[in-house]
Amino acid sequence: ETSVQTLEFQAETRQLLNLVIHSIYSNKDIFLRELISNASDALDKLRLESLTAAAPGADTSDLHIALEADTDARTLTVRDNGVGMSRDEVVELIGTIAKSGTASLLEKIKAAHDAEAAQSLIGQFGVGFYSAFMVADKVTLRTRRAGTDEGTLWESDGDGTYDISTVDGLPVGTSVTLHLKPADGEDGLADYLAEWKIRAIVKQYSDFIRWPIRMPVERGEENGVAVTEMQTLNSMKALWSRPRAEITEAEYHEFYQQISHDWTDPAETIHLRSEGTFAYDALLFIPSQAPFDLFSHQTKRGVQLYVKRVFIMDDCEALVPNYLRFVKGVVDAHDLSLNISREILQHDRHIRGVRKRLVKKVLGAIKDMQASDAERYATLWDQFGRVLKEGLVEDPDSTEALLEVISAASTHDAEKTITLREYVARMKDGQDAIYYLTGATRAVVENSPHMEAFTAKGYEVLILTDPVDEVWVDHVAEFDGHRFQSIAKGQVDLDHEDGDDKDDEQKAQREADFADLLPWLAATLSKQVKQARLSSRLTTSPACVVGDTGDITPMLEKMYRAMNQ
Ligand code: ADP
Ligand code: MG
Repeated sequence: ETSVQTLEFQAETRQLLNLVIHSIYSNKDIFLRELISNASDALDKLRLESLTAAAPGADTSDLHIALEADTDARTLTVRDNGVGMSRDEVVELIGTIAKSGTASLLEKIKAAHDAEAAQSLIGQFGVGFYSAFMVADKVTLRTRRAGTDEGTLWESDGDGTYDISTVDGLPVGTSVTLHLKPADGEDGLADYLAEWKIRAIVKQYSDFIRWPIRMPVERGEENGVAVTEMQTLNSMKALWSRPRAEITEAEYHEFYQQISHDWTDPAETIHLRSEGTFAYDALLFIPSQAPFDLFSHQTKRGVQLYVKRVFIMDDCEALVPNYLRFVKGVVDAHDLSLNISREILQHDRHIRGVRKRLVKKVLGAIKDMQASDAERYATLWDQFGRVLKEGLVEDPDSTEALLEVISAASTHDAEKTITLREYVARMKDGQDAIYYLTGATRAVVENSPHMEAFTAKGYEVLILTDPVDEVWVDHVAEFDGHRFQSIAKGQVDLDHEDGDDKDDEQKAQREADFADLLPWLAATLSKQVKQARLSSRLTTSPACVVGDTGDITPMLEKMYRAMNQ
């Protein structure tokens, strides 16, 4: 052992540690899931490296996770013979929280009204390795990176600093030893040394982990000596590869919670298998609530790629478009190279086919939900609608399917959103366009002078208040043969749509009345407006400013300005 260095945790890490230690989670059991999931990742990485020649000669003959409870020392150890970490990696990965959005998450947690809200926030974030400090007052990590000789010892009691030193003689892989706090029923601290407890947690959270999770178990006595045997605690069944008919809803939900680290049930489960020329299994979930960082730039996509049960990558952008980034799940392709890179995936014809099918399935599931369970659909739209609308700009191939599932506020009903189908079904005789108006809030839109004539004449107008609405309405040509028409742009000839001759006479009369005023207005305001004309869109306001048909709207102008464009 060389000299010990004491280092400080990065400030955000320290704050998060504090939150964790002061027990934001009421469910402390999840610490074991987190450590096992890290161990499993490390085994995946080593296996992949050995197969792709990054770590040739690595011993992958018995990759596994071992749990060891020492009742005398009151320690629980989670050991893996995976890829391990170098000293630099330990400092970088364990001493720092590299996740995006940590700072803003901490702000939100501080602002949360109650423990439950705070817990929900941190649950969405996932505290990973640090969850160990919920149950331990000291954590010792020993690790050796595959392909190197040097081992690293890391130790901390979670108070802001950690000790790190170099050690010899460690096996390849990582062990994490928790010096357990005293068990205390009231505090939610179970006896994590008890065999039944460890078994129960593994079964609940880590049953599908594809590596054996082993534990020595006492099996009675022989000649006065305790006999122990090694047992594998998890089933290791990759749920997606089993036939749908044999899987219960509870199993799907458990699996979802395991891969998403969410504790709620998913809103929708989609399980499909393709046995064509490019065989794959896909198991996708639509969560019931949005993660806190859905709109952060670095949000990852939730679909993982496996090749024949070997984990290849998280966040597989080739499999799902950005606007479906909230979908979680697994795609296991049977005939891909384990060496496949993200770049190659992007251009792979088969993968494009898979992506197309997945998008169709997800949008189809949402459409079915809309038809069969309005309440569940409304919740889903509330959580993910804004993201789905990005698809109208991003994915022209899915425009039709997306327009079928979107909903929007409208002047028809102040309480409920409506679908475009409903809008079209209510269109007035002779009405040809779908009218909409964008603005910052419903109140702003409703009180706009542009609205007057439309409301007076009984036309329904969509009220679009999300920033993304500004963009998609320009991208989408039409729905069901009807174009989208902003009531704030160009000439809207409502009189004409009525097909009323008397109105035409009145109009001619009015034009004569104002023949002198209009050129004067145009000349006086020449710097501000392109044109002054008589309008049929107002009933009580004397005047309003409208954009030209091709102009960008004031809100979009603001957006572009904010983006420095
Ligand atoms: P996450 O797993 O979400 O990345 P964690 O806090 O659980 O976050 O772990 C942080 C990082 O530390 C991991 O991404 C991994 O690189 C490293 N790590 C943790 N545990 C192990 C382990 N048992 N073996 C190798 N690396 C590990
Ligand atoms: Mg982790």
